Amino acid sequence: MPGKLYVVATPIGNLADFSHRAVEILQQADLIAAEDTRHVKLLLQHYGISNRVVSLHQHNEDKVAPMLVEKIQQREVIALVSDAGTPLVSDPGMPLVKLARDQGIEVSPVPGACALIAALSVSGLPVTRFLFEGFLPRTAGARKAFFEEKLQETATWVFYESSHRILASLEDMLAVLPPDREIVVARELTKLHETIVKDRLMNVVERVKADENMRKGEFVVIVEGAKPETKGEGISTEERRILRVLLGQCSIKTAVAMAVEITGQRKKLLYQAALEMGQER
Ligand code: SAM
Repeated sequence: MPGKLYVVATPIGNLADFSHRAVEILQQADLIAAEDTRHVKLLLQHYGISNRVVSLHQHNEDKVAPMLVEKIQQREVIALVSDAGTPLVSDPGMPLVKLARDQGIEVSPVPGACALIAALSVSGLPVTRFLFEGFLPRTAGARKAFFEEKLQETATWVFYESSHRILASLEDMLAVLPPDREIVVARELTKLHETIVKDRLMNVVERVKADENMRKGEFVVIVEGAKPETKGEGISTEERRILRVLLGQCSIKTAVAMAVEITGQRKKLLYQAALEMGQER
């Protein structure tokens, strides 16, 4: 029998979210490659799996991957797991999977939990098209630039966030996105303190500010896509962005006059939007 690499998803909180097949494969593999060997041992103990575990994390995976591929070429079966959820999704594993594929090794998934998919499935926002953005930049400036880029994105978009930055990220989002954009904050999914909040951006920011518990744990944030351009009915996200930039530089009267010049939008609508933006500050 040739060797093989299995990519095995593990629970994101509730240990019961683990398939029979995943347990069998971890039991039968010659070796388990895990992001954190101590962490995975809790899961292995829970399921009575005693197997050899080797560490593969973002700081050693370039070195370890060729050694593991060599073992698979010598007919070993290796199971790759990360600390939680699906390996490679904001987690280590890419060099190993790529190298194995490049070497013609069979790579097979053992699907299971994934925080972004779990959150999307309960969000009530459209999931026919979505973009996963991983973790956002750590500085406020880079985050705001990222949100500017996303202003006109019409697909639903999703990112991961930590407890340290959840409030700052949401506040930066509010500084750039329309305050009435629907968002979902999914916290501690499948765990004791699971909380899923769906509301307009401005209300979610208030809630996270007011409730200390809403800043604890692990988070997935999902953002409704922009409405398609609506010339004539209201101002578009791009027109809103231009107006916001101008309002940061000059008086409301000048900003609106310049925005009319640049966008060709009706003065009345731009003026109304400028007044609303003033109230949001
Ligand atoms: N590979 C994992 C997956 O499939 O979801 C993600 C790993 S990434 C290093 C960890 C991030 O995923 C956390 O910081 C958080 O943003 C998100 N996450 C993981 N578990 C979660 C949970 N139970 N509830 C909400 N978010 C979670």
